[in-house]
Amino acid sequence: MKTTLPLATPFIEFHSSKLAPLLDRFEQKGSIHSTLLFSGIEGVGKKSIVLHLIQTLFCDESIFTAFEEDGDAGLFGDSPSSRKRTGRNPCGNCASCTRALRDQWLDLYWFDPEAPEDGSRIGAHKIETFRELKGKLGLGPSSEPFKVVVIADADRMTPAAANSILKMLEEPPKKWIFILTASESSRLLPTILSRCMEVKLSPIPSGPLFSILKSSKGLDFNSTRGQVAARSANGSLTRAILFSSEEVWTLREQILGLLSSPAHEWMKLVESLSRSQIQTHLGLDLLESIFSDLLHALVRGEKHDWTHSDQRDLLLQISEVRGLNPERLCRILECLAEKRKLVHLPLNSKLLAQEILIPVLEVL
Ligand SMILES: [Zn+2]
Repeated sequence: MKTTLPLATPFIEFHSSKLAPLLDRFEQKGSIHSTLLFSGIEGVGKKSIVLHLIQTLFCDESIFTAFEEDGDAGLFGDSPSSRKRTGRNPCGNCASCTRALRDQWLDLYWFDPEAPEDGSRIGAHKIETFRELKGKLGLGPSSEPFKVVVIADADRMTPAAANSILKMLEEPPKKWIFILTASESSRLLPTILSRCMEVKLSPIPSGPLFSILKSSKGLDFNSTRGQVAARSANGSLTRAILFSSEEVWTLREQILGLLSSPAHEWMKLVESLSRSQIQTHLGLDLLESIFSDLLHALVRGEKHDWTHSDQRDLLLQISEVRGLNPERLCRILECLAEKRKLVHLPLNSKLLAQEILIPVLEVL
């Protein structure tokens, strides 16, 4: 769990329509599903929204507080509290919210996939992970209205781990809520999926992404960089934040330099791309983004909404000088897609960087 609260207001506003049915249901019927699944593309903000929801569920001023005040009544379908609270967002000031904002959670068990032993990027939830949790099932919440268990990236549960929690999801203890997140919910076992109410978070369009970046960065915000990052992000906030970083911005400068003056920038760019696997991926992302921008501009003409709008004149000039046309640009993009397959092979990093850049230079 890395997210810290509070989240940027435009971010909550964008996803709030997906939380609304949960809140409406509680207001109308006094109940909420005991097993929720938040799905959506990587980086769309699933874990952040889950934390925001949990803060709301715990907040002393929220509609859910009815549950705590009435003891057994409320949350899972019994009669709602006589004392009406109206907060559909956390108040930010009560004792529960203060704990949440300080990252001092009570009654929350959060499980991330275990880091793999071989050093690869993708970990998994193993059956051992949930053994300790099972020992706690008899306990009620200590300070908050109920206990929440979050299984982040639940699509990375081993089949044995997934089977081990089935019973918990089927018959959750009283005052317990289970929340799963998944980038690819289709990878979950059908038996798990069928027990969840799925909340599908949509990719974030560039307009809202720009507003989120702006409100998160405060005075440091660079508007041009924010626009390019938001448009390059394919709906992912994590990607937009990465693309607005100094590191990626410098890499983009080097790539644009290479297109203008290949001999001069070649070694510098090979150095940058070979620094790490992440850097190689970012370089490929940027190359694809720039060439695809140019391709769409040549095909759509004035109607094209530029991603790299600040470099429009330079890119059109490069295209004219090099005689680039849609066919050649498609060929470059195909080459780059092929080269992406090489990134995970055990190749010398500098050779790999050259392998990626050579076809680009050949076509230019
Ligand atoms: Zn509060």
